[in-house]
Amino acid sequence: MKNLRDFSHKDLLELMKEFGEKPYRAEQIFRWVFQRRAASIDQMTDISKAFRERLKEEYSIAGNRVLDVRRSSDGTRKFLSELEDSSRIESVLIAEGDRLTLCVSSQAGCAMGCKFCMTGMGGFTRNLTLAELAGQVFSAFELLEGEERVTNVVLMGMGEPLANYDNVLKFTNVLTSGMGFNFSRNKVTLSTAGLVPAIRRFGQEGDVNLAVSLNATTDEVRDRIMPVNRKYPIEELMAELRRYPLKSRKYITIEYVLIGGLNDTDEDARRLARLLRAIPCKVNLIPFNEFPGSPFKGPAPERVERFHYIVKQSGYTVIVRLSKGGEIQAACGQLRGAYEG
Ligand code: SF4
Repeated sequence: MKNLRDFSHKDLLELMKEFGEKPYRAEQIFRWVFQRRAASIDQMTDISKAFRERLKEEYSIAGNRVLDVRRSSDGTRKFLSELEDSSRIESVLIAEGDRLTLCVSSQAGCAMGCKFCMTGMGGFTRNLTLAELAGQVFSAFELLEGEERVTNVVLMGMGEPLANYDNVLKFTNVLTSGMGFNFSRNKVTLSTAGLVPAIRRFGQEGDVNLAVSLNATTDEVRDRIMPVNRKYPIEELMAELRRYPLKSRKYITIEYVLIGGLNDTDEDARRLARLLRAIPCKVNLIPFNEFPGSPFKGPAPERVERFHYIVKQSGYTVIVRLSKGGEIQAACGQLRGAYEG
């Protein structure tokens, strides 16, 4: 059985052609699946019974199976989902003021191998399908039971989103489509470790916010903690970001995990400010959280303060991410750093 949640609107247009159906059927089905959250083809009552029966011979609607939900006292909820092949992925709901952000995984595992990240140390299994990406949104909706609303979505969980380019692009389109989940483009952010050619492509084809996980100001240090830097070194990445086609009043988020004694010196802060020149950006500083087996340590509080001060003095908007969900162990290094204490 094929899952209708795996079909973008464009895919459905193709499918309707194969069925010899009118193009407007594609929109009807797309809306049923993503906007009206139909759980079965039988619910699509404005589609003739005869066509529904034909569809049901090969197609169905299926979701991820949520195995476990953990809540922490600050309102953060992490849920673990099992996929058809028994791969497991994690998604997190983070409450911050009047925002409720859903952090989704883009791959089962991750091949990027960032040394400060638990997921990176565990290796890569496979890319997630559109249905599995969207399935995390559906699961969050079910978990919230209509009582709270997800306001933001970040692709910052397990995996490198731009390494699963096609499915992730379809997913961001479903997120922002008025016929789909209907999130504003400004409320969706994709975070990458720095795959330069894919960033260039996404600049042309994508229309949601971009965040880049930088985490070092010299190639020597970045090579050590992010193997992707050996392929796409800092200057190449910065050059790409300077060229990135931002719409007016938009900016790139630069994520910087502060690791004690490694990348948190005054000189690093000054170098970071120089590197980011001519890039419209905001900087998120994320004090590293130690985890079992990690070779690194968190920064001293006064280093965080000083680093923040220097970058801010250079004219950037800088935020130190608040600790969130400390009791429940979220998945990705970025996520752990961004939201855990
Ligand atoms: S930090 Fe993100 S990109 Fe790096 S290994 Fe972890 S999951 Fe992958």
